[in-house]
Amino acid sequence: MVMFDAANNTWHCHCVKAKQSCVHKAIAKWHFFQTRKELFTGDESEVSQESQDSEDQVETVTSKHLQYPPRGEDLERIVRYTQHKKRIPADLPAKVYGLTSETEVVKHLIPKECVCPECPADLPLGEPFIISSSAKIITVKGIIEGVTTYGKKCSRCGMVVRYQEWEDGLHNFNDKVILTLHFCLYLRNCLQVKVQEFNT
Ligand SMILES: [Zn+2]
Ligand SMILES: [Zn+2]
Repeated sequence: MVMFDAANNTWHCHCVKAKQSCVHKAIAKWHFFQTRKELFTGDESEVSQESQDSEDQVETVTSKHLQYPPRGEDLERIVRYTQHKKRIPADLPAKVYGLTSETEVVKHLIPKECVCPECPADLPLGEPFIISSSAKIITVKGIIEGVTTYGKKCSRCGMVVRYQEWEDGLHNFNDKVILTLHFCLYLRNCLQVKVQEFNT
């Protein structure tokens, strides 16, 4: 049970001392950030804004022919495509989230698409380009560093695809932070247990 004191902006969990962090506090913070954002005013939001500006942000790849992440309509196309074609199914096959041992994890995450999903007549996509060479995979056991994420671009329509293969047991959060589905399920389970506690 995590307690949040909005007046003093302090978090307490009986599993650790006052200023130590634990997985319960982290999950509670994330949960409230999604559902009750107004609780985060003043210092807290400034801190999170700062960290977003530096560490968490994905490097922008910009060259004459390439802008990643793309802007405007091109960004909408990626989001639509990911939502419709690459969404993680509600009922995951057991073999997918069973895929958790670190030796199985690949360090070069290249999109599987070979042809443009939006152009007719199976137009081949360009060579993979590097989005981040310092991405991390978060597992229930720890963090795997030194991961490289890639994208591919269609030279005709400009469509960009990024690595998003749940069949590999991975969820690409932002090209820089990759979560194993096992870890996602662990987080969800923590939240579900938490909600039950509130309801009883
Ligand atoms: Zn705790
Ligand atoms: Zn295309």
